[in-house]
Amino acid sequence: MTTPPPASTASPAPPDDAQLLRLAHEAADRAYVPYSRFPVGAALLTRSGRIVLGCNVENASYGLTICAERTGATRMIAESGDADDRRIVKVAVVGTKASPCFPCGACRQVLHEFGCEEVVVEIDGAPRSYPFAEILPHGFGPADLEPTTGSEA
Ligand SMILES: [Zn+2]
Repeated sequence: MTTPPPASTASPAPPDDAQLLRLAHEAADRAYVPYSRFPVGAALLTRSGRIVLGCNVENASYGLTICAERTGATRMIAESGDADDRRIVKVAVVGTKASPCFPCGACRQVLHEFGCEEVVVEIDGAPRSYPFAEILPHGFGPADLEPTTGSEA
């Protein structure tokens, strides 16, 4: 019997960073990592207060492997059309074999797409928070595709 995918949960009060890290650990426990054996979990907190979990999912082709943060982001989008459910306030990321475990470059770009404001990682067993602009300075995002005044032909 297979373990069901991690469920999204709604919380009446915003979880603290330690709670988000615990949820990220739970997601990491469900990671599908037969090749790297490097489980990673992510807990995304949306503007609406929803928590969406993600874990890395590997593939025998290797190149199709997807990280925990991106499985969380895709679930977040697939599960709700509400604008506040699609904006990331913060994401907690844990790697059970690496501490801290920061999002990779691809995940930073995807998190930026959905307005991520903060990244929480685990250092010596405790949460440590970073402003998103600190881990992806000068990120390219949706606003960069908007026409700019003065440069239009
Ligand atoms: Zn990644």
